[in-house]
Amino acid sequence: MRRIALLTSGGDAPGMNAAIRAVVRTAIYHHLEVVGVIRGYQGLLKPDFISLHLRSVSNIIGQGGTILKTARCKEFFTPEGREKGVKHLREQGIEGLIVIGGNGSFYGAHLLSTENRFPVIGIPATIDNDIIGTDFSIGSDTAVNTALSAIDKIRDTVSSMERIFVVEVMGRKEGYIALRVGLGGGAEDVLVPQTEYDIERMCEEIKEGRRKGKLSWIIIVSEGVAGSREVASLIEEFTGFETRSITLGHIQRGGSPTAMDRILASRLGKEAVEALLKGETDKMVGIVGEKIKLVELTYACAKERKEKSRRDREIYSLVKILAT
Ligand code: ATP
Repeated sequence: MRRIALLTSGGDAPGMNAAIRAVVRTAIYHHLEVVGVIRGYQGLLKPDFISLHLRSVSNIIGQGGTILKTARCKEFFTPEGREKGVKHLREQGIEGLIVIGGNGSFYGAHLLSTENRFPVIGIPATIDNDIIGTDFSIGSDTAVNTALSAIDKIRDTVSSMERIFVVEVMGRKEGYIALRVGLGGGAEDVLVPQTEYDIERMCEEIKEGRRKGKLSWIIIVSEGVAGSREVASLIEEFTGFETRSITLGHIQRGGSPTAMDRILASRLGKEAVEALLKGETDKMVGIVGEKIKLVELTYACAKERKEKSRRDREIYSLVKILAT
């Protein structure tokens, strides 16, 4: 193998740049040439490629976002689109592809790889941490820390003014961020898609709490459940207490990656290049415990998430025990 390409796809996540840096520098260390694809699969189909050198990735380890840009690409959902992408790679003498992204990007990478017999390795990067076969995806630790620091600030007002606050955090299908900031931020309740929630019961607890002298509440809601305003007005309706709402939104995606995300991105970036060199394909590099593991891309995208659900239920019950 002489030449490889890499791209970032789907939602951006802090630490993607650290992964790009690690891929480029490891590849050059192993005497490979590296090509960056701009705007994910969109750039594969256009094509929009740039050469990456040692200095192309200087000073990006601490930058959020992705220097390669990211996009969503409809044409890539078709076999013809994926075939066109592989044709562009082969025309440039590229013999392997590294895809940094989430579930959707990995499923697309799996199809590209198997339909066209083209070597592909995935690096998990998504703030939702919803990929199977890795304990963490790049960006999730930073997103949790960013949301947590916002919640700490909100708590100052909540406790000074004795208010009820509903804080909406990112997470469409999973409540990874919500549960972690709920526990780490000492929230009174967390509403997430993967555990059952009962707003009326929560309102009864708020009324009971007020009777016993508990005057301030923070309720974290994952965006996949409902909007923060919607939940706040339901609480006002059921309890009669003034309730404020706030949506943290895109600030959770941005910012400098934490040490944990930089280290993870650097390790996974290196392993992805070496996996391609060993002839691996259609796999993702992940971390389980402290060990780097290779798992099938189809497994990484699987819906079955027993282990993660068990952990999420444990975290939820701890939030409730500690909130009393
Ligand atoms: P995140 O969850 O962080 O947003 P993601 O990788 O899951 O990241 P998606 O928007 O689901 O983001 O996917 C990114 C791109 O991957 C899509 O725009 C599309 O080009 C490709 N893709 C997604 N799903 C498929 C699929 N089933 N078949 C082929 N390509 C796909």
